[in-house]
Amino acid sequence: MTIKIDVDMSLCQHYGQCVFEAPEVFTLNADDKLEYVAEADESLRHNVEAAVDVCPMQAIRIVE
Ligand code: SF4
Repeated sequence: MTIKIDVDMSLCQHYGQCVFEAPEVFTLNADDKLEYVAEADESLRHNVEAAVDVCPMQAIRIVE
């Protein structure tokens, strides 16, 4: 089972809070821009949900 993740990059301000919650999914690249994987293992759902909660821009969505 996997979960699908969508980040609205027009909202994302690249603060990186999500990176702390789910580093397996979210990273900041060398230019401090957010990169993420669009599909992750179900076992990471809890971490991704934490990232959704912590994102100050409410830019992250789990696509059911
Ligand atoms: S926490 Fe939200 S605004 Fe910050 S980098 Fe992650 S998706 Fe972007």
